[in-house]
Amino acid sequence: MTAKPTKLASAESQSLRLFIISITLVATICIISGFLGISFYSRGLIREEMLNSGRRNFTNIVLMRRWNANHGGVYVLKGPGVESNPYLENPDITAIDGKVYTMKNPALMTREISELFEKGQGFFFHITSLKPLNPNNQPDEKERDALLSFEKGAAEANWEEAIGGSPHYRYMAPLKVEESCLSCHVKQGYRVGDIRGGISISFQMGEVQEMLHRNTMIIMGLATLTIVLVIGFIGFFFRGLVRKLEDARAAINQMASRDQLTDLANRHVLFQRLHEEYARHKRNNQPLSVVMIDVDHFKSVNDTYGHATGDVVLREIARVIEEGVRKYDLAARFGGEEFLVLMPNSDLVTTQHTAERIRKNIEDRVRVGSLEDQRIVTVSLGVACLRPGEDAETLLHRVDAALYRAKKDGRNRVVVEVP
Ligand code: GH3
Ligand code: MG
Ligand code: MG
Repeated sequence: MTAKPTKLASAESQSLRLFIISITLVATICIISGFLGISFYSRGLIREEMLNSGRRNFTNIVLMRRWNANHGGVYVLKGPGVESNPYLENPDITAIDGKVYTMKNPALMTREISELFEKGQGFFFHITSLKPLNPNNQPDEKERDALLSFEKGAAEANWEEAIGGSPHYRYMAPLKVEESCLSCHVKQGYRVGDIRGGISISFQMGEVQEMLHRNTMIIMGLATLTIVLVIGFIGFFFRGLVRKLEDARAAINQMASRDQLTDLANRHVLFQRLHEEYARHKRNNQPLSVVMIDVDHFKSVNDTYGHATGDVVLREIARVIEEGVRKYDLAARFGGEEFLVLMPNSDLVTTQHTAERIRKNIEDRVRVGSLEDQRIVTVSLGVACLRPGEDAETLLHRVDAALYRAKKDGRNRVVVEVP
């Protein structure tokens, strides 16, 4: 007979549930923290890449200006759309062939190139100064703040800003006076290393933000999937564990309360129940009877047919006894080849009838040996009913005495309590 699974005791299942919830919570927090860490780290990388891009562009522009300054400015052919720089003295020269060339100094070249960019999409830069000669080079509010910070020693500045309704990343660094600048600007009192102004680089962040958003969504999706999988795994694992615990508990209960061979209640359960029924008898004064059953000449069954066959006979007798009693009676294995039936609320006469029925059923049904040489197995039974004022131990002594008498009187019989 296999043990029936039982539900875990509620205190245990409560603490197990608490344990599972705690583990799930800890796992969820760890996963969320892990994924948040990844998300912040990748955001940091993207921001670093934007900063590097700002620095690279700034360096390119400075190199371009240096090239121009190294040549003391460059002349371009004047024509339609090519204006002279109004902030230069004598910007134009006429070649011997009569063509007019005008000077593009670093500031004008930077400005004009920046205008080309501005016409394009997403990227532009702006040359600016706190004291611009050209009013077009006036700094905007943020650029002014950055320029002021450069004067206080800041090496660069970067910020995010909405321009024309779309988010932009802006990088700005100071333009310092170089040796090549002095040929033109010495009159303004500049020295090498002085801050002349700055160049701000701006580029649209829409794509980057979309990338960040996509990145966040992917990370959130992965985090959710991981949490679901981990919770699923924990649930699956603990369900199996709980089932095993329940099975183990059922098996332990079974072993602790049932007799291994016959699957009847064991002596421990019998005595527990006897005391309960005795207490009930004391409260309600209801009758309490017992039947003690012993297999006749069982030693000879073992000796003739072997111990294993003896075991089978004991199991068969146990089944017949079990079938012959009411469901609120308790049939137990008392020891060896002895059984005891506890019959609450059953008087002597009723108990005697039950005992007689059991005796008859065993005589009619339990057989041992081959078909040709069959042997009838019989039992002897003692019956006793609790007397007023009697204790449970005395009742057992009296039922044992009745059984002893049944044996003495020839076996295969029921003897009702002897005085
Ligand atoms: P009586 O009619 O006087 O009761 O004779 P008996 O042979 O039945 O009594 P006795 O006390 O001499 O022998 C009981 C036997 O029951 C001895 C023991 O080996 C056997 N027995 C006790 N428990 C088990 C068991 O679990 N399995 C088997 N096969 N035999 C058992
Ligand atoms: Mg015996
Ligand atoms: Mg016996």
